Amino acid sequence: MTASEPRPDIAVAGAGVSGTTCAVALSRYGFAVTLIDDQPDAGGQVFRAPSPYARERIRADQERRKGDRIREHLAASGVDHRRATRIWGLTGRFDLDLLGPDGMAQLRAERLVIANGAVERFLPAPGWTTPRVIGLAGASILLRGGGTLPGRSIVLAGSGPLLFSVAHQVLALGGKVAAIVSSAGVGEWIELGTKLYRDAERLLEATRWMAQITAARIPIHYNARISDIQNLEDGVLVTICPKDRRKSSSTVNASILAYGDGLKPTTLLSRAAGARHEYDPSGDYFKPVTDTAGRTDITNLYVTGDAAGIEGAEASRLRGLVTAHAIALDTGRITKAEFDSLAAPALRRLQKLAAISVTMRRLMRSGHDCALAIPDTTILCRCEQVMASAVRQAIAAGARDVNQVKAWTRCGMGPCQGRSCEDGLRQILMESGDISPQDTGILTARTPFFPLPLSTISGEFVYDDIPLPKAAPL
Ligand SMILES: Cc1cc2nc3c(=O)[nH]c(=O)nc-3n(C[C@H](O)[C@H](O)[C@H](O)COP(=O)(O)OP(=O)(O)OC[C@H]3O[C@@H](n4cnc5c(N)ncnc54)[C@H](O)[C@@H]3O)c2cc1C
Repeated sequence: MTASEPRPDIAVAGAGVSGTTCAVALSRYGFAVTLIDDQPDAGGQVFRAPSPYARERIRADQERRKGDRIREHLAASGVDHRRATRIWGLTGRFDLDLLGPDGMAQLRAERLVIANGAVERFLPAPGWTTPRVIGLAGASILLRGGGTLPGRSIVLAGSGPLLFSVAHQVLALGGKVAAIVSSAGVGEWIELGTKLYRDAERLLEATRWMAQITAARIPIHYNARISDIQNLEDGVLVTICPKDRRKSSSTVNASILAYGDGLKPTTLLSRAAGARHEYDPSGDYFKPVTDTAGRTDITNLYVTGDAAGIEGAEASRLRGLVTAHAIALDTGRITKAEFDSLAAPALRRLQKLAAISVTMRRLMRSGHDCALAIPDTTILCRCEQVMASAVRQAIAAGARDVNQVKAWTRCGMGPCQGRSCEDGLRQILMESGDISPQDTGILTARTPFFPLPLSTISGEFVYDDIPLPKAAPL
């Protein structure tokens, strides 16, 4: 049943690197901080705490060590860390509905920092809803967090650095990568390489991955996209279509396909809070409008880390720190001069890293830049089983933005709240060329953010307890 809790000064939503860094810094300023995260341990996507099985199977690397340090700092701080607790509703200023190991709870905070990270995006291809097709970022959770190979052999397709990161993780677990299909060309990858000198650690890591991938003789198809996926009895048959239409398509067989078209900020909470969002052409996604410290247009609401725009793990850590200093300034705990001097090193480093994140976002959006038309018979919205043809009919009948299409077709109305179909929907809306990305809009957020067991709301009951009205006399 619902329990209302004492009011913390600040609630931080998300215990990835940005949220944890922010929460620990805020507690050092003396704030009462509650950090809420749906994972059993802090660390988020990059510094995810591996399961005991994965700990045994995967050698500790730099990320594992950094993640362990983040968790140690958090444990030593005064932060109230709510593990395995999901925020499923947000109303007012700021009432959070939580579902955790002890059931439902409500938390009201004076200030809210949203640090709920990124989510992967997909451009639908024929066959993308068949079994044995998983997300590229999802595959990295299985590999890194669970120490588990998703299949005997795997095709990795799409855009962004996750392609090579996941290839490295598959090889590290002794798996086989049947092919890598990159929508970006060699030149774009080389450009990222030339920017990485600003971040020696990542340059070293990328060099190691590429050496490993070259030694394993993995075929890499640059400037190419997936145009068809067939589900076979014991695997998938993937058709690879070069961007250059003069070149012919080819096929590759594997037990599984992992594909994804980069990342976008998770905007569910910031949308529910009513913050202003805008289209960002550099990443081809919508994001909340914030200043460099994460302040939004709503008083006492901050968004930090990848939830405010995709920049990567190190930048997210720095953003979390700057947001904490900004809150200290906004509440009068430090002066503007103190803020300037405390935030300066992080802001300088962020400026240095900006060239890398701009190139990374360009790589992530390379799939969108060469997207193939989504065939009419392809399912766009998996939750509500809406085909591309239904969306095109709604547009022909006058729908002009994602929310109109959602109301008319139910595309984006299912339990995933448009996380998987919104990008495909936007692509179809823009096909005619007379709707700009900004005008396509962003789907409205609806409570509950995730499917909930009804029993958590209703509590325990037996049918005899339900007072049934007597039938009206005849
Ligand atoms: C699946 C995936 C894999 C990735 N792998 C890599 C990689 O290998 N290398 C790399 O450089 N970048 C990777 N990224 C990008 C990476 O997420 C960021 O650069 C970095 O982790 C951002 O840190 P953050 O703290 O902003 O967010 P995150 O690390 O994503 O942390 C956000 C946290 O919020 C939690 N959360 C979200 N919504 C809710 C909610 N409603 N209730 C409770 N908790 C919630 C999430 O579970 C997560 O723990 C990946 C992204 C994804 C989505």
